[in-house]
Amino acid sequence: ETLDKGLEKSKTSFFGKLSKAVAGKSKVDDEVLDNLEEILVASDVGVNTTLKIIERIEARVAKDKYLGTDELNLILREEIAGLLSEIETGEETEFVTPSDKKPYVIMVVGVNGVGKTTTIGKLAYQFKKAGKSVVLGAADTFRAAAIDQLQIWADRAQVPIVKQSMGSDPASVAFDTLQSAVKQNADVVIIDTAGRLHNKVNLMNELTKVKRVMQKVVPDAPHEVLLILDGSTGQNAFEQAKQFTAATEVTALAVTKLDGTAKGGVVIGISDQFQIPVKYIGVGEGMEHLQVFNKFEFIDSFFK
Ligand code: GDP
Repeated sequence: ETLDKGLEKSKTSFFGKLSKAVAGKSKVDDEVLDNLEEILVASDVGVNTTLKIIERIEARVAKDKYLGTDELNLILREEIAGLLSEIETGEETEFVTPSDKKPYVIMVVGVNGVGKTTTIGKLAYQFKKAGKSVVLGAADTFRAAAIDQLQIWADRAQVPIVKQSMGSDPASVAFDTLQSAVKQNADVVIIDTAGRLHNKVNLMNELTKVKRVMQKVVPDAPHEVLLILDGSTGQNAFEQAKQFTAATEVTALAVTKLDGTAKGGVVIGISDQFQIPVKYIGVGEGMEHLQVFNKFEFIDSFFK
């Protein structure tokens, strides 16, 4: 329900434009495809992914010359679902972590302001609700506010947090967090990291060091590197994905603020372009406003 409400704007925008583009036309012709291309790009699907979708639809049109515009919706849904399936995006339905990895270590990356702290807090809450024990690590030691904010979320979700003073070594905080988690026999560890993008080499070095030091405690950590992106920033989100994937191996994405954007297509484009699944979406500021990304629900909300 929240997703539907949250994506209301995307819905009217995408579906409304699509309906307009095919109005009065019975066949999918070049003009319809041109319009569709424009709408997809305007919905932040991104140029590469848009062209991929258009090509696939063209191939189907070539096979079936009389393809009607009434079938375009269905075909578009199929192609989008197909794209997301290729990288196993939106296959999960619950907040789960693999039980054979204990603690399951999630390293969270992303630039300031995208909703990193909020998403960590919401995740901690959800995992705890699912019966898991969670430990947070405040390894964004660059900003005092980051540590304070994470503490507030730890209190809200009622999970322990490991922190040091501002300016301390992030790798040291990560190390302490993992040690504490192992001692407590915790199920999930979520490590916040600093999101400074002004120097790619620094970012890469810092994240590499945090990883290396974590592996002294849990040899195959981190099990997940979760990049947080602000869904309302369109091209910026693509650019940040590019920078972070160049600096470290990102294994999953969380796209936030989809409640406030008319362009949810960023979810489709980013997961396709970077071949990384979107695992979570943020649909509001509250603790409950995080969802496990489900491709069918998402596509439904686009086309309803
Ligand atoms: P950080 O700097 O990346 O840690 O960002 P924060 O977690 O502090 O979030 C920045 C702002 O975005 C805060 O005002 C959050 O309440 C807001 N925010 C985070 N996620 C969402 C979301 O899914 N929807 C909306 N509307 N706001 C969000």
